[in-house]
Amino acid sequence: TTSTAAAASDRGPFSEASAADIISCEPATGAEIWRGKACDVDDVVTRARRAWPAWAAQPLSTRMELVRRFANEVRKDAEKLATSIARETGKPLWEAHAEVELVINKVEISIRAYAERSSQRRLDSALQGTMAVRHKPHGVLVVLGPYNFPAHLPNAHIVPALIAGNVVIFKPSEKAPASGEMLARCFHRAGISTAVMQFAPGGPAEGQAFVAHDGIDGVLFTGSANTGITINRRLAARPDKMVALEMGGNNAMVVWDTPKLTDAATLIVQSAFASTGQRCTAARRLIVKSSMYDAIMGEVKALADRLIFGAPFDEPAPFMGPVIDNAAADGLTESFLYLLSHGGKAIKHLVRPDESLPFLSPAIIDTTTMKDRPDVELFGPILQVIRVDDFDEAIAETNNTRFGLAASMIGGTPQEYNKFWANARAGIVNWNRGTVNPSHSAPVGGIGLSGNHRPTGYYAADYCAYPVASGEMEQPRAMIGIGLR
Ligand code: NAD
Repeated sequence: TTSTAAAASDRGPFSEASAADIISCEPATGAEIWRGKACDVDDVVTRARRAWPAWAAQPLSTRMELVRRFANEVRKDAEKLATSIARETGKPLWEAHAEVELVINKVEISIRAYAERSSQRRLDSALQGTMAVRHKPHGVLVVLGPYNFPAHLPNAHIVPALIAGNVVIFKPSEKAPASGEMLARCFHRAGISTAVMQFAPGGPAEGQAFVAHDGIDGVLFTGSANTGITINRRLAARPDKMVALEMGGNNAMVVWDTPKLTDAATLIVQSAFASTGQRCTAARRLIVKSSMYDAIMGEVKALADRLIFGAPFDEPAPFMGPVIDNAAADGLTESFLYLLSHGGKAIKHLVRPDESLPFLSPAIIDTTTMKDRPDVELFGPILQVIRVDDFDEAIAETNNTRFGLAASMIGGTPQEYNKFWANARAGIVNWNRGTVNPSHSAPVGGIGLSGNHRPTGYYAADYCAYPVASGEMEQPRAMIGIGLR
C-alpha cells in the first residue's frame, strides 16, 4: 500500500482528474484502446427526463422506422464494430461478426415481439361496453451492460425499450466502452437523438448512482449475480421501478446413452469453451452416466486438446481468445487450484502460457468425489465433470445449484428427456443441443440466482411496457343498481 500511495502522489495535480477516467485495454496485448471521462449522472438523467415526453408521443410506426434505420447503420458499420468488439473483448473476429449479426437481427425480432406481446386489444361485452388493453412505456430506463457481449446484450434491452416509447440511458461495461460507444453512434446516425438514447460511460459507481436516482423509472441489467442482487436490494422498497435482471449461471449438461460420441463431444466443448467460457449460458458442469464416461471423456479431451486459443486476429483463426483481463485470469487460476486441492482430478490442466497476459487454455476437472463443490459461476474456460450412476441422480445434480439459467441433456430417450424437462430448474432446457446460443426469438432468462422472472429475448417487450386496462364508452351510461331507497 505504501508504494501505491507514493505512486499516486507522484501523479501530481492531474491525479484527481485521471482517477475518473474510464480506460479500456485490449486483453490480447494490454494496449489501451479507449479512454474517456465517466458521465455526470445527474446531467444525464435530467436530459433523459426532458426528452421522454416527445419520444413517447411519437407514433409507434415512427419509432419502428427509426430502429430499422439503426439496423441499417449497424450493417454499414459491421466491419468496424466487429473489429472493435474483437479488440476490446479478445473474442475471435469471426465471433465478433456473429455478435454484430445478433445486433441487427434483434430489430425485426423486437418489432414482432412488440406487435404480439404489447399490442392493443379490444374486448366487447354487452354488459360492460368496450374494454381496451393498451401498453404504456415506463419512462427513463437505464441499461447496464456486461463486457462479454458489449453490443448484443445491451442492445437486447435498448431496442425493445425504444420501440415501446422509453428513453434509454446506456451505461456500457467499464471494460468495453469503445464498442458501446460505437453502438450508440449507430442509433444517433439513424436519427434517434443523443438525449433519447444517451451513451453514459462509467463504472460501478455510476451504475450505483443511476440505480439510486429518483429520476429513473427502471433498470435493465445484464451482469453478475452479485451486482444484480445489490441492485435488487437497493430497489427493494421501490415497487414503482421496473427491475429486469439477467444474471449468471452454473449450468449443467447431462450426457446419457447416445451412440453419437463425436456430436456429443462437439456440443460439450462448444458449450463449455465458446467465448473462452465467458458466456452466461456456458456449460460449467458436465454430468456423465458412468457407463458412458470413458468413451465420452476420451472424445471431449481429444477435441479440447485441438482447440486453438490465441489473439482475435490470428491466422489460422483461434476458437477462443483470452479472458477479459489479468485479474480474471488470476481468479480463474486460483479457482482451478482450489478445485484441485479439494479433491478435484485434472483431466486437462488450466495453462497460462504467458503470466503477463490473460490467455488461458481450456481446462477440464473431475470433481465427482469432491465434497461441497462451491456453487459459484467460474466465468472462464473451466469445465467440471461429475459422474453419476442413475438418472434421478443426474437430475438432482443438475439442480444442485442456486442458479437456474440453462440446462441441457444429450442422448437418452424421449421419456427421459420429458422427465429432465419437467424437473430441471432452469429458464432454458435443451435436448441434444448445447447450452449456449439461446435464440432471441424465444425468451432468454433464468430462475434462482440467474434472474428475477423477467426474461429478455422475445419477452423483453414485457418489461419495456406495462398494460393499461380501460373501460370506454362514447357517452356516459349507467344502470341503476340494487340497494336504492
Ligand atoms: P458485472 O456485474 O461486473 O457488471 C455489469 C454492469 O453492472 C457493468 O456495467 C458494471 O459497471 C455495472 N455495475 C457493477 N457494479 C454495480 C453496482 N453496484 N450497481 C450498479 N451497477 C453496477 O458483470 P460483468 O462481469 O460485466 O459480466 C459478466 C457477468 O454477466 C457474468 O456473471 C455473466 O454470467 C453475466 N451475463 C448474464 C447474461 C444473461 O443474459 N443472463 C448474459 C451475459 C452475461
